[in-house]
Amino acid sequence: MPSSEVLNSYFAPAVDATIAGMRAGDGGPFGSTLVDSDGKIVVAVGNTVVRETDPSGHAEMVAVREACRMLNTLDLSAYTMYATCEPCPMCVSVMMLAGIKTCYHASTHADAAANDFSVDHLLNYLDGSDKATFDLVHIEEGREDCAEIWTEYQALKA
Ligand SMILES: [Zn+2]
Repeated sequence: MPSSEVLNSYFAPAVDATIAGMRAGDGGPFGSTLVDSDGKIVVAVGNTVVRETDPSGHAEMVAVREACRMLNTLDLSAYTMYATCEPCPMCVSVMMLAGIKTCYHASTHADAAANDFSVDHLLNYLDGSDKATFDLVHIEEGREDCAEIWTEYQALKA
């Protein structure tokens, strides 16, 4: 665990980016900073949902996108995320897909929910306690053209 001084040095630019973004109308009250293995800040960003008209414009998602583009890699396994608030399942997923192993967060899902940003429906869906909010339907028949994709993938890989 980084020292409080170090943590503050990583959270501060995320908070600055978030407040500037909120004032500009870019998005909600969430920010994040991505740090490399030497402790150097790679990106510090805020939420861009409103500016980009993009429901996926969460700060951690924006940080992963910007870092991957900037570093020209899909592998952020040497990087650590610092998020002003506990990441939603989408952002946990994109961090894991990018190889990030650790995300330190300040505020919690409960804090976000108390400020109009609940992700309880996502958490309840994923933990199986409420599957009524989204239908994920596996099609057994009428999907032969989809299966061809695997064949093509293996052929291209060979
Ligand atoms: Zn998120």
